[in-house]
Amino acid sequence: MGLDLLVKNGTVVDGSGVARYQGDVGIKDGRINAIGRIREPARRIIDADGLIVAPGFIDGHTHMDAQVAWDPLGSCSCWHGVTTVLMGNCGFALAPCGPDDREWFARCLEAVEDIPTDAMMAGIDWTWETFPEYLANVEQLPKGLNYGAYIGHSALRMYVMGERALTEAANEDDLDRMANAVEEALLVGAVGFSTSRATTHITPDGTPVASRIAEWNEIDRIVASMAKMNTGVFQIGPDTSSGSAYKEFLQRLRKITLDNGRPVMFGISSTKQGDDPLPWQSQTGFIDEVVAEGGHIWGQATTRPISAVFSAKSYLPFDGLPVWKQ
Ligand SMILES: [Zn+2]
Repeated sequence: MGLDLLVKNGTVVDGSGVARYQGDVGIKDGRINAIGRIREPARRIIDADGLIVAPGFIDGHTHMDAQVAWDPLGSCSCWHGVTTVLMGNCGFALAPCGPDDREWFARCLEAVEDIPTDAMMAGIDWTWETFPEYLANVEQLPKGLNYGAYIGHSALRMYVMGERALTEAANEDDLDRMANAVEEALLVGAVGFSTSRATTHITPDGTPVASRIAEWNEIDRIVASMAKMNTGVFQIGPDTSSGSAYKEFLQRLRKITLDNGRPVMFGISSTKQGDDPLPWQSQTGFIDEVVAEGGHIWGQATTRPISAVFSAKSYLPFDGLPVWKQ
């Protein structure tokens, strides 16, 4: 008999909130069946002395949409103990996407996430158009991580509205088509719908990405279609352009979760921001208030400061400043 795998001598952080402890972890038939001092024989033994043994982490905010096409390991997430990632955050996605728009979508990801367009065009076998087709493609790729995906607003808007997505409000027909596409995506397993109001999210031409052109009634309409199906998370990149814009943004989120009952996930700061500090305490205070009112709302913060590669050739955090443009 015995175990299939024994991970010995590790420091176990079991995720329950209990302090870390020294122990062995025994696995049989794909499940953990013992933790502690284990003497049972095992077919395979890993010595984890000096290492942490923990459940895989879930990274709820990645932009692995393109990388999954050419990197089966999912680095660098896999190096940090992440075993599940969500992609398609902030409205950026590679589906739905018409054949003529592929390069534009790739350039948008380059503008915001610094993923080179050339790498994307060379590394992706771009066979899909709709979101269900994209997910079916991800399904058959070799993968070392588990993946979940949002249907992204900027992609969806461009797909439905074409060039108008970058300048115009959606009409009734556009709204119907977007809501239908989101419902179709949820049926095949989309995690939900993502969007962004963040001023840092710009097209390669420096103009706001399509999701930022949308009026709030468009977002309300799409989240309502998720509510109708009783599934789907709403994720949003925050408007941090000023204190007043941010306050209004938070009130919108409050209304969305209270009206629809859908979970809302939004980026929060773990540090003070510039001249108009928005300490994280006010954000967690806001979350507590909305939860007390019956809303489902979560903040996403980084566990370390966000750093950027500084180069005059790529996007810089200064690009939004008038004085830098001069
Ligand atoms: Zn993002």
